[in-house]
Amino acid sequence: MASVHDRKVDFSTFMQGVEERNPGQTEFVQAVHEVARDVYGFIEDKDEYHEAQILRRLAEPDRIVSFRVCWEDDDNNVRVERGWRVQNNNAIGPYKGGIRFHPSVTESVLKFLAFEQTFKNSLTGLPLGGGKGGSNFDPKGKSDREVMRFCQSFMTELHRYIGPSVDVPAGDMGVGSREIGYLFGQYKRITNRWEGVLTGKDTEFGGSQMRPEATGYGAVEFLQNMLEHADDGIDGKSIVISGAGNVALHAAEKACSLGGKVLTLSDSDGFVHDPDGIDADKIAWVKKLKNERRGRIGEYVEEYPDATYHSGDMPWQVECDIAMPCATQNEICEDDARALLDNGCMAVVEGANMPTTFDAVQILQDAKILYGPGKAANAGGVAVSGLEMSQNAEGISWKHDRLDNMLAELMTDIHEKCVEYGARDDGPVNYVRGANIAGFKKVADAMLAFGVM
Ligand code: NDP
Repeated sequence: MASVHDRKVDFSTFMQGVEERNPGQTEFVQAVHEVARDVYGFIEDKDEYHEAQILRRLAEPDRIVSFRVCWEDDDNNVRVERGWRVQNNNAIGPYKGGIRFHPSVTESVLKFLAFEQTFKNSLTGLPLGGGKGGSNFDPKGKSDREVMRFCQSFMTELHRYIGPSVDVPAGDMGVGSREIGYLFGQYKRITNRWEGVLTGKDTEFGGSQMRPEATGYGAVEFLQNMLEHADDGIDGKSIVISGAGNVALHAAEKACSLGGKVLTLSDSDGFVHDPDGIDADKIAWVKKLKNERRGRIGEYVEEYPDATYHSGDMPWQVECDIAMPCATQNEICEDDARALLDNGCMAVVEGANMPTTFDAVQILQDAKILYGPGKAANAGGVAVSGLEMSQNAEGISWKHDRLDNMLAELMTDIHEKCVEYGARDDGPVNYVRGANIAGFKKVADAMLAFGVM
């Protein structure tokens, strides 16, 4: 009989297998590569994980549901999109992860997000498995009625696969409170059950206070923990932020409240640079622009003429102390990482999921600046979603201040877990390794306990 040592494959053979089994799914392969590299070092002398093929099993989602979504636009045209739900792993709790509506959504993108989500959710310490879903539908430029019809059609299929103890989706890019309202309404209509099947709901109907703020605020709390660990602080630091959505605007708000000076915001058309700083009043104006008028970030310079607009560009060339990518995946590439370093940037903290390419991460880590990966830094959103599930299950509603404190504590706990596995003698904490190993260990130990399945 072959021993465990014969069945052990090395890292490059493992990755070759992942590539062969997932042809063309570059985002998913990239995400597995980033985690597996660290986990391989950790399990080197731990035969039980090799014996049970834990990493191989984690890189194979429990299931992927893919479906057609038909809807009618305002001109009565029949439109056809694709919908998916990737249920990656439920070892430590029901599948949990957002729904994304964006033209860039593919199965590969959702598999990468569901894989990442598994480790992120584990890091929160809450009983949450990992999943992600979405569609290539683009809510931009659609009327409310069109978005409603699309959401109803999407949920008509999705409702078969979700439930409060099965899979609890939330919002993500392109899915805010309007979309969650339509999705929740349709679930309730079809099943005739009012239950905590979605998080990110409006507070009027079961949503948690602090959920809209949680990801952005949490990312800045994580940044604060990182800086304090390095005997530094946010006060007086210049911060470049990408995106102008939920995460970016709340990160900007929190950073300002702690004395940071936010210089930029962006959307997929370009970025604005305001050398005077984008303060709380200006952020409130952008929130209205984005959430009520559904406008573009370029309009900022009409309101604040001292700022400049850079069409088609990302903000990484702007001189700053701290960069917070809060828009989308792979938005900081190698040249951007070099520009940030050349301009004196001392910390990169990810509000978005995998916004930094693999090679760019390498450059930042080699330079030994502080680097907070999304799976740790942006875990505040899913953590408060976990708290929303608890509140729904008990039929109660906690107050804003209590949740704000709970969020701060959760982010400090996540930071400590990263330090536990990522501390090193020759430089700052390796937060990537710390998050990957801490996230992996909890899920892997549960999988070991359950046996082979
Ligand atoms: P939103 O849809 O609210 O905002 C996304 C922002 O990013 C928009 O300003 C959008 O501009 C911009 N953007 C999208 N694609 C690109 C691109 N290719 N280039 C430049 N800008 C782009 O999403 P969220 O703020 O909710 O999410 C942002 C990121 O944070 C995502 O990676 C998401 O997965 C992650 N995240 C979100 C959580 C949450 O609680 N919302 C939780 C954890 C992670 P435009 O309007 O032009 O598309």
